[in-house]
Amino acid sequence: MGHAASDPGLEPTRLVSPRGPFVGTPPPERAPDRWAEHARLDRVIGELSRGFGFQRWWPAATPFEVIVGAILTQNTAWTNVEKALARLRALDALTPRAILALEPDVLRQALVPSGYFNAKAKKLVAISEWYLALGGLVPLRERPLEPLRAELLEVHGVGPETADSILCYAAGRRTCVVDAYTRRLLGRHGLVEPTAPYETLRRWLEERLVDSQFVYEEFHALAVRVGYDHCKPRPACESCPATTPTALRSPAARTALATTTAKKRTNDRRARDRKASLARPTRAEPEA
Ligand code: SF4
Repeated sequence: MGHAASDPGLEPTRLVSPRGPFVGTPPPERAPDRWAEHARLDRVIGELSRGFGFQRWWPAATPFEVIVGAILTQNTAWTNVEKALARLRALDALTPRAILALEPDVLRQALVPSGYFNAKAKKLVAISEWYLALGGLVPLRERPLEPLRAELLEVHGVGPETADSILCYAAGRRTCVVDAYTRRLLGRHGLVEPTAPYETLRRWLEERLVDSQFVYEEFHALAVRVGYDHCKPRPACESCPATTPTALRSPAARTALATTTAKKRTNDRRARDRKASLARPTRAEPEA
């Protein structure tokens, strides 16, 4: 079992960005000359990096806080995560032992701002137990990656995106995070089929990105940044630092894409609602 006092996962980071502390690889003096072995991917990342500068990710005070943030950010905006993290900090509950020591009601209340608070409370308990049983950050950094990742994926509430965020940013492991922003960015630039399975996209990226921990971390951070700022359902290519893909060069093409995306989202939501109403349980969610 890990001992809190000796676990580097609970030690405050010394890295700071203008918006606060961050955990990850410190940025190099200047941006890498090469980001990817694939010319078009390399060009897009280079343009985003020149446009946005270093992202200094992941925003957290300790590696364990990255883990908490990776769970809380599921299905919600980061601003909501920050509110829940502030509540946990006020309770002095940003360590696995402190999370496990909280009264379940207190934990749930703290997580209200991040949404799905019942489910997320159970997930935080599960990941805290797993982290302690593993022995803290050192085994997370050092155990063979693929079996460790497989084990992490068995933890309640941990899907591939959460697992890879934890491994990449908390533990500095060479694994690519694939999220909706990444799919959209790569899909619009004609690099991948955006609906491809997670593992296909992760492998595609890992076979092409330069073998550097900083590049892996920065690529995902840049994909999120451009997704927030420009590469939205209706892409704002004219203000984006990346070169507009040929297929989106005209405003009409971007409007058409936004309309198709909106229609697809409505259809997906209707299908989900129909499925949920057929499968609705008698109780909202069983308590742990
Ligand atoms: S907004 Fe346009 S130019 Fe920017 S990343 Fe998206 S598709 Fe590319």
